[in-house]
Amino acid sequence: MTENGHDRVQAPGTRVVHGGLPAPADGEPILPGPVFGSLFHLAGDIDATNASSSYHRLGNPTWTRYEEALAELEGGDVVLFSSGMAAVTAVLTTFLKTGDVLVAPADGYHGLRGLAGGLLARMGIEVRLVPSTDADVLAAVSGAALVWIETPTNPGLGQLDVARIAEAAHAAGALLAVDSTLATPLRLRPLEHGADLVVVSASKHLTGHSDLVLGYVAAPAAAGGAEGAAGRAAELVTTRLLGGAIAGPMEAWLAHRSLPTLEVRLERQEATAATLVAALRERDDVSDVRYPGFGSVLVFTLADAAAARGFLARCRLVAEATSFGGVHSTAERRGRWPADAVAPGFVRFSVGIEATEDVVLDVLAALDAA
Ligand SMILES: *Cc1c(COP(=O)(O)O)cnc(C)c1O
Repeated sequence: MTENGHDRVQAPGTRVVHGGLPAPADGEPILPGPVFGSLFHLAGDIDATNASSSYHRLGNPTWTRYEEALAELEGGDVVLFSSGMAAVTAVLTTFLKTGDVLVAPADGYHGLRGLAGGLLARMGIEVRLVPSTDADVLAAVSGAALVWIETPTNPGLGQLDVARIAEAAHAAGALLAVDSTLATPLRLRPLEHGADLVVVSASKHLTGHSDLVLGYVAAPAAAGGAEGAAGRAAELVTTRLLGGAIAGPMEAWLAHRSLPTLEVRLERQEATAATLVAALRERDDVSDVRYPGFGSVLVFTLADAAAARGFLARCRLVAEATSFGGVHSTAERRGRWPADAVAPGFVRFSVGIEATEDVVLDVLAALDAA
């Protein structure tokens, strides 16, 4: 830090506001609008400097600004994709080959398990599904090419020790990928704990307004990195270029537009979640209340499916909807989806940014009436 403090590293709550913005220039907006264009003017021969601004699938300045903002938050290079699952698929298809072993969560986001039986089976990849505990994952890493963990897990909210698993994965010659969607880079930066790849669905907290679908992968920064690490983001850029899972400029711009409020949204969501968790733990009709201590998602279990349906039907403010991380409080009976093995009365609750007392009162009134 210098005397006047101006050179200190800015706090994440400041970086979300300023990340990826161009240098101030008179007459220019603070965040330039989305650049729409499938093609761009390009004269003469192709070289490294002009190729990425020739055709949208190779690059778009609106993505680049958002990627730069995310890169600052994650502490690595970031490659933006059209959805979280596009980011997941890019990692799997770029870093696994026939005969490899993938260790993956048995109790995490269902999309990855869906790929295990389909795409990955056809690629000839052996998938070891393991429960999300440190002991189970550590016991499974031997012989793996890629260890995939999710922390906290969706929907069970289990938490794993990224540093310990990274060390074990590396000792076994495997890469570690962490799905960090629930935490966001404001609450967990897996690259700092030794992860090789970080996958985030930006459709959730990152964008936070339930109006778009995006995802990204972060990898250790290329500059001066170890040989293996240097190429990882670049390999993902090639996968995106040829696989075609690119973000639209409008989505990327909306995402960047939503980023500055990430910390204030999270702080409100976390304050309300803490109050709600305390109120739910007081009740006899609610069991197994779980909350990681950060983020917007908490889960609890009601007596049975009918009790959960009755609760959701009686909420007036809280909308019955899937997904999480948005400004509006939502909840669902997770067991209505066949892919998650949860109790019939298991409710996944996503706390919005409404006034705390209104959310808590709506939940308690709906429980009383149910
Ligand atoms: C939603 C989600 C995904 C998939 O992201 P999409 O943007 O819906 O494709 C992946 N992992 C986790 C943990 C998620 O919650």
